[in-house]
Amino acid sequence: MIGAHDDNFKSMDLLSRSRAAVWHPCTQMKQLEADPPLAVARGEGPWLIGVDGRMYLDAISSWWVNLFGHCNPRINAALTDQLGRLEHVMLAGATHAPVVELSERLAQLTGLGHAFYGSDGASATEIALKMSAHYWRNTGKPEKNGFVSLQNGYHGETVGALSVTDIPLFKATYEPLLRPTVQVPTPDARLAEPGESAEAYALRCADALEAHLAGHADTTAAFIVEPLVQGAAGMAMYHPVYLARAREVCTRYQVHLIADEIAVGFGRTGTLFACEQAGVRPDFICLSKGLTGGYLPLSAVLTTDAVYAAFWGDETARGFLHSHSYTGNPLACRAALAVLDLFEQDRVIAANRVKADAFTGILDKVCAHPRVRHFRHLGMIWAFDVHDAKPGFASRFHRAALAQGVFIRPIGATVYFMPPYVVEADAVRDLAEVLCACLDDPAV
Ligand SMILES: *Cc1c(COP(=O)(O)O)cnc(C)c1O
Repeated sequence: MIGAHDDNFKSMDLLSRSRAAVWHPCTQMKQLEADPPLAVARGEGPWLIGVDGRMYLDAISSWWVNLFGHCNPRINAALTDQLGRLEHVMLAGATHAPVVELSERLAQLTGLGHAFYGSDGASATEIALKMSAHYWRNTGKPEKNGFVSLQNGYHGETVGALSVTDIPLFKATYEPLLRPTVQVPTPDARLAEPGESAEAYALRCADALEAHLAGHADTTAAFIVEPLVQGAAGMAMYHPVYLARAREVCTRYQVHLIADEIAVGFGRTGTLFACEQAGVRPDFICLSKGLTGGYLPLSAVLTTDAVYAAFWGDETARGFLHSHSYTGNPLACRAALAVLDLFEQDRVIAANRVKADAFTGILDKVCAHPRVRHFRHLGMIWAFDVHDAKPGFASRFHRAALAQGVFIRPIGATVYFMPPYVVEADAVRDLAEVLCACLDDPAV
């Protein structure tokens, strides 16, 4: 059965077998009966091709991971080459060219030294939290082991990462398993008082961070933050001055600043890393998602030479005690290197700026729709809230858009468009029509 080609399965076969055998993520499985998943046979550029033969625009880059389209010929070529050389070797006691070259290039791009690898975003968060607390222990301050994060922040769903996440749906059920952490006010610009600018509101929130750290620096290891956009909160955007102030405050109170650029890194916000827009260098940066262009699970945490140096010594336990079987997987590193090549060779950041301006113009009609509030845009992310959304809006909108060839999954009442960078204006024009048609539909 496994050998049979996807395309040979009728959609219904695949769906019923998926329901019977696959436990889908972040899904009430009972709901799949009424709201079946899209059965995908192939991918090509920004398109998913269903087993029904129809094309669907991957409007949210397959959970924000895809940068250069599905089955990108250049990333495919790099992986094919690597497959003939080395598929994997453990990274304890061995090393290989792809991981060395990737580490060198990431260090150059981030201004941070050694790269430690994990398999997905949540493992990068775990690594950064453990590394920060271990640094303070190695420097004689073991009581500095607490963490601060933003309200509505998201840093992954493993037990440590969930402890610094603040999305009630993901967190409440597992609360008894989690370590207590502190959440400070989010600078989400939508929460500004009437007449208050996004910048003034961000500064007010930075004061709250400072007030907390002033009283708790002795027991705080790090402040972890999603720079500029809180993705899972519903693409909440905020003014860069918050990051600049957070950097100052963290330095003043000797608390690490961890930039979780898992979603926003690699050009999503218009610069290679979102922190650049605030002129900030964090103590740790977490990277994943776009890192391999959406090909393979890989994450990396980079940190300063000062942090690295604190782990140096004769005792094993002074070193960083963390590993995953697939740490630094050569195939994943080759995919990541191909992604970095694409950024350089195609001058992607500059090209995206031109594309984004054009797309924003095309999406004007969505912005002007009477149901739309807080239309916002940064880099290659567009989002808006639907002011009169009723319970179940997200899944109804998803189904209505899917019927018209768009794969998009709102977060609550927030609809967002976060496409692979290879998407073209024609597809965005069609998307704008579909979004407006869905908003016009009284049943949605
Ligand atoms: C997706 C995400 C994570 C978790 O990554 P996974 O690969 O899903 O574990 C962490 N932080 C942010 C900001 C994310 O968007």
